[in-house]
Amino acid sequence: MTDQRNFDDRDGSIWFDGKLVPWRDANIHVLTHALHYASSVFEGQRAYGGEIFRLTDHSRRLRRSAELLGFEIPWTVDEIDEACRQVLQANQLEDAYVRPVAWRGSEQMGVSAQRTKIHLAIAAWPWGAYFGEEAIRRGVRLDISPWRRPAPYTAPTESKASGLYMICTLSRHNAQGKGYDDALMFDWRGQVAEGTGANAFFVRDGALHTPTPDCFLNGITRQTVIELARRRGIEVIERAIWPEELESFEQMFLTGSAAEVTPVASAGPWNFEVGDLTLQMRKDYLDLVNRRLSNS
Ligand code: PMP
Repeated sequence: MTDQRNFDDRDGSIWFDGKLVPWRDANIHVLTHALHYASSVFEGQRAYGGEIFRLTDHSRRLRRSAELLGFEIPWTVDEIDEACRQVLQANQLEDAYVRPVAWRGSEQMGVSAQRTKIHLAIAAWPWGAYFGEEAIRRGVRLDISPWRRPAPYTAPTESKASGLYMICTLSRHNAQGKGYDDALMFDWRGQVAEGTGANAFFVRDGALHTPTPDCFLNGITRQTVIELARRRGIEVIERAIWPEELESFEQMFLTGSAAEVTPVASAGPWNFEVGDLTLQMRKDYLDLVNRRLSNS
């Protein structure tokens, strides 16, 4: 059963700056730079049967995200990997979501932050289907967000930076307020970009089409799905996709560490079927992460 308690009021341990602390003691001061100026980056990865899928890729991306915001996390990739494993073990979790977060501390207030100390915390908890099982079966319903992914020259778009999620939360709230599950975002040019926390794929005539990730995350799940599709001999085309084209696609799905492979039933006025190729990619992905499929 899912724990319904608030996220600051649970049992277990959180890795905090090098050691495991009781869950409720993993606290920070209100004058933390990250809270005021979004100087924070994070990751999200899943453990399946006690093993975190593509852990090192996530730890590398975390360090890279921080570098793009101008700070260095004072732990190596190996140390971050090890800390993530410790968190799972300490909380006796096998299937879980793992959330590392790194941020600038409270040594300095104002826009400048060169003197702030860099912190790292890692928490983990059981987390079922991101959109719920029922939504996966019928396909999720997406609104079209009024917000657009920013251009790479207006924000560090390759970073999994907290600040970039401001428009994602706005988009998702707006969509859910209208009864949708989530929203599809276009980019600053008007091209189709991604979901609010997942990448997008489309199916036409047995081929996969996916937007080129030049202003949003090239997700680790996205890369895995592309590999899995190519292994099956399915053509994958990365390119600019314009909204006018959405009409011509038969299927659509979202990919992400939390969302895994989630079928989409509709995006704005465009409808899709929960089709065979989508379900195949979902099965291949789940087989791989659960080690029912070889990783070579
Ligand atoms: N885009 C956004 C905005 C996301 O938050 C995520 C989830 N991290 C993704 C794409 C997918 O990335 P990944 O497959 O690496 O989880």
